[in-house]
Amino acid sequence: MNKTSPLETSSIGYKVPGSSIYIDPKEPVACAIICHAHGDHAVEGHETVYCSEGTAALIKSRFKYAAKTIHIIPYGEIFEIQHIKFSLHGAGHMLGSSQIKWVKDGVTVVYTGDYKRESDKSCEPFEVVTCDVLITEVTFGKENKVHPPAEESVKELQIHKDVNLMLGAYNLGKAQRLTRLINDIHPHLRVMIHPKMVAYHKIYESLGFDLGKWEPYKREQFKNEKGIVYLVPPPVLLNFRPGTHFLRAFATGWDEKHVRFDFPFYVSDHADWPSLIKTILESKAKDVYTIHGDGEDLKTAPELSNIEIHTLSE
Ligand SMILES: [Zn+2]
Repeated sequence: MNKTSPLETSSIGYKVPGSSIYIDPKEPVACAIICHAHGDHAVEGHETVYCSEGTAALIKSRFKYAAKTIHIIPYGEIFEIQHIKFSLHGAGHMLGSSQIKWVKDGVTVVYTGDYKRESDKSCEPFEVVTCDVLITEVTFGKENKVHPPAEESVKELQIHKDVNLMLGAYNLGKAQRLTRLINDIHPHLRVMIHPKMVAYHKIYESLGFDLGKWEPYKREQFKNEKGIVYLVPPPVLLNFRPGTHFLRAFATGWDEKHVRFDFPFYVSDHADWPSLIKTILESKAKDVYTIHGDGEDLKTAPELSNIEIHTLSE
């Protein structure tokens, strides 16, 4: 087996072979395509960036100097760089998250970036994109690792309506998704958010994603009133000593991250095992490369026995 890797890897990150186009580079470069605005995919200081409208708004908010030029590319529209045709497609991970598709030497490649297939009213949906070669994230690539639906986790908050809840959530993506979910499922609860989340909430809303009711954190009200869910960044959650007037939980897909808190609260923005299998099969790719995690279990999955699964070095 002597396959040509669909991406070259170096300390700077992934590069499309035969070009100087980087995908989610970790250092400033002349030409970058960025799949979403999380810190492990987006850094500041590039010369030229290609990304979705949501990603552009978020990186401009996150970074003092995101890039000299940002080209905003609508989903599905073909754009050409260095004679290679690219397009972006919804990844369902957070606002603006994109899969990146390109055609080179007659081979169609799709790089998923982070993605989920669960419904999420706070961002654009995942799109199935067919290709010859699929590069998929495998953050939760463990056989039979299944995320319970986020709605179920949020529904269980019913039992906590007489106390307040301090809920750890990443500032960008998770916090906006939870704001929308809590509004939909528990309209009687108040959602307070940490100051670091406010700008991101406003960007989501400015791009047409209604998050429902929310308010910035007010210390006295959280202390003296009931029925409040206060969304905080994980470090803040860890630094707060457990209080008598509130419970603590952390919204994540990782089992081991729940143990320090009052109850487990499973909400993940990544594909679980059934989603990974489904995405690989629906892509119709005959070659699959895994990134961001351990893809070993996929190599022996009976559903994928006709597909070559490779690990792409990082
Ligand atoms: Zn991400």
